[in-house]
Amino acid sequence: MNILVINCGSSSLKYQLINMNEEKVYAKGLCERIGIDGSRLKHTPSGKDTIIIEAPMPNHKEAVKMVLDALTHEEYGVVKSMDEISAVGHRVVHGGESFSESVIIDEEVKKAIEACSELAPLHNPPNLIGIEACQHLMPNTPMVAVFDTAFHQTMPNYAYLYAIPYELYEKHKIRRYGFHGTSHKYVAYRAAELLGKPIEELKIVTCHLGNGASVCAVKNGKSVDTSMGFTPLAGLVMGTRCGDIDPAIVTYLQDKENLSAQEVDNLLNKKSGVLGLSGISSDFRDIEDAVKEGNEKAAVTMDVFNYIVAKYVGAYAAAMNGLDAIVFTAGLGENNHEVRRDVCKYLEFLGVKIDEEKNQCRGVERDFSAEGAKIRTLVIPTNEELMIARETKNLLKK
Ligand code: AMP
Repeated sequence: MNILVINCGSSSLKYQLINMNEEKVYAKGLCERIGIDGSRLKHTPSGKDTIIIEAPMPNHKEAVKMVLDALTHEEYGVVKSMDEISAVGHRVVHGGESFSESVIIDEEVKKAIEACSELAPLHNPPNLIGIEACQHLMPNTPMVAVFDTAFHQTMPNYAYLYAIPYELYEKHKIRRYGFHGTSHKYVAYRAAELLGKPIEELKIVTCHLGNGASVCAVKNGKSVDTSMGFTPLAGLVMGTRCGDIDPAIVTYLQDKENLSAQEVDNLLNKKSGVLGLSGISSDFRDIEDAVKEGNEKAAVTMDVFNYIVAKYVGAYAAAMNGLDAIVFTAGLGENNHEVRRDVCKYLEFLGVKIDEEKNQCRGVERDFSAEGAKIRTLVIPTNEELMIARETKNLLKK
């Protein structure tokens, strides 16, 4: 069974074709600059060179058509025809309170995704456009929606409610939703496999530390709390996002800097975080380089970042009344051993103890706990595409 995984943005489309009998990627690629001059497709059949096809892609339908042509191409294709694609799994960012798990897409589901667009105006509309483009070109192929928010729908109300007038929750659905759910779920379940214990018996904190970053408390296989909130702006310090700040700063800035609501939103989402604090870059590799050169602002930026990650892990140990394992994933979590070391240092009082040598790894699965550590520490590279393909396969089987 081959499953096509689609992740559609406003001007981009990422894809992977995965053979689910072996969970093997046959091809992956990216359409860039959809609807803009200079659009192109980068297509990589597994184990072969990347092919770049420059051609106009005025819309997502054209982009999907180019992807399907590439996948079935005589020379660099990986399947003979579209009939060999059993289903399409779509990443959808926001499922609101309507979706607590993945679903087969029908008209009603599409309406519900559209209704959630208000909560994710930059993401849900292009996700929906991608679904419709695929439906148009593959009318007989089942489509599945896998939501970033779904895994967190198990949070109890005391974790997802904000202490603002309750009617605002009822009227505008203002509450914590959380994001990166597909990644948190994948690494939590993988951690259970690696630890050789049923997930139903484990208390795990998963740290997805990338350009966007969030922490999740996974108790007995279910998300019970997570650091992102109503939007992905909340929680940890991120590449360009501020994470948790005093909400009064918003109106203070509007007043003192004479900024509109939109301008403050832009400042907190795009000009803050690691970029804003360091004044250097939103990429952690640039910050690390600057730290090595003795840049003090870079050093304090990393300190702020590590401190808030550690605080969340500590808070979630309390939320779950215990902790068995901490998992690090995404760009920074998988690759930056210093961040892992410095975060874990704060947590020694809980029983975290790392093996410095085992921690010297990048992008591989590794248990880097020291012998006898009460809490296990793991690096697990995330694989959201495989998780989407698995969810799609499971729904088809049902
Ligand atoms: P992501 O959003 O998961 O792609 O993560 C992006 C972040 O991870 C960037 O800020 C990078 O600096 C960091 N990152 C990615 N690869 C590496 C690496 N090999 N070493 C250190 N940091 C990395």
